[in-house]
Amino acid sequence: MTIRYPVSQPWLEGRELDYVTQTVRDGWLSSQGPFVGRFEQAFADYNGIAHGVACSSGTTALTLALRALGIGPGDEVIVPEFTMIASAWAVTYTGATPVFVDCGDDLNIDASLIEEKITPRTKAIMPVHVYGRRCDMDAVLNLAYEYNLRVVEDSAEAHGVRPIGDIACFSLFGNKIITSGEGGICLTGDARLAAQLKHLRGMAFDPGHTFLHKKVGYNFRMTSMQAAVALAQTERLDEILARRRDIEKRYDDGLAGISGITLMPARDVLWMYDLRAERRDELRAFLAEAGIETRLFFKPMSRQPGYLDAGWPSLKASVFSEDGLYLPTYTGLAEADQIFIAGKVREFYAAA
Ligand SMILES: *Cc1c(COP(=O)(O)O)cnc(C)c1O
Repeated sequence: MTIRYPVSQPWLEGRELDYVTQTVRDGWLSSQGPFVGRFEQAFADYNGIAHGVACSSGTTALTLALRALGIGPGDEVIVPEFTMIASAWAVTYTGATPVFVDCGDDLNIDASLIEEKITPRTKAIMPVHVYGRRCDMDAVLNLAYEYNLRVVEDSAEAHGVRPIGDIACFSLFGNKIITSGEGGICLTGDARLAAQLKHLRGMAFDPGHTFLHKKVGYNFRMTSMQAAVALAQTERLDEILARRRDIEKRYDDGLAGISGITLMPARDVLWMYDLRAERRDELRAFLAEAGIETRLFFKPMSRQPGYLDAGWPSLKASVFSEDGLYLPTYTGLAEADQIFIAGKVREFYAAA
C-alpha cells in the first residue's frame, strides 16, 4: 500500500534553498562555515537564552549536555520511562546509569514519583516534553534545588517550549518540529557551560591547538549546510507553530465524540497528534489501507533489552504503549487531508 499521508514530512517554505545554495557557492560546507554561528544565535534569541551550541543530533546534544555537567561513571540520572530511547542512551554513553520514573496521564514524567528514586549517586534529572507537552518543570526544579541536582531538558519534541533547565537539548531530525535533516542544539544561560559544550563537541582541543587533549571529546559538530537549513527553519518557527496549532484544533474537532478513541490532553506545541485507540492494531491496518501512516507510542525504557535490570515494574507507561498511536502531523498537512484522515478513523469505529 502506498503511503499518501506520511506521519511526518518537513516544511521547507522559507529560505532553506537560498541559504544552502550560498554554502555551496561560497565553498563553506563544514562546521567552520558561517551558518553554524548564525543558527546558534537565532535559535538562542528565539528562546530568550544566551547561548546556543549546535551539534550533529538530538542524541549528541544530550550526551554533550551530560558530559559538560561532569556526569559520568558511578552517577545516576533520572529519566522518564516514556520517552525515545536516546534519552536513556545519552546517559549510558557517559558511563552513568539511567534511573527510570513512570509517566502520568499526560505521558510526561510523573514528578510525584521522582523523589523516591533519588539516591546519593543522583546527579541530574532529565525531563522530556513528550509530543510537545511541557513537563511540570516547577516540581522538577524544586526537587533539583532541594537535592542539588542538575536539570537537562530533553526538548527534542518541543521547539517553542521555553527552556528553563541548566541545559535544554533539541533535535533537528527530519520528523521534528523544525529540522536540518540531522542535527541538534543545546541551549544554556551559563557561559561556562556553553564553552564546555563547544570544547567537547569539537574534539576537546586545547585553546592553542597544540594537539594536547585533556578530556575525551567528540566530533559532534554540525555542518554549515545543515545550519543553513536550520536557520531558515528557525526564521519561520512562529509560523510553523501557528500552523501546527491549527492542525491540533482540526484533529480535536474532527475526532470529537468517536467512541473507541480517547483524545489526549492539549499540547503546548504540537509535535505529533497522539491518541489512544481500542483495537489499535486493527485501526492501524485499516488506516494503512487508505494510505494513512501511523506510529506507535514509545515502549517503556525498563522494557528495553538493554535496561531489563531495572526490573519489571507495573507501569502506566506500559498501558499507554499498548493502545497509543499518532496520526500524520506535519506543518504542510492540508485541512482537506485532515478531514479525510479523521473521517477514516470515524468510519472504522462506525463499522464495528
Ligand atoms: C528525536 C528524539 C531524540 C533524539 O534526537 P535525534 O536527533 O534523532 O538524535 C531524543 N529524545 C527525544 C524525546 C526525541 O524525540
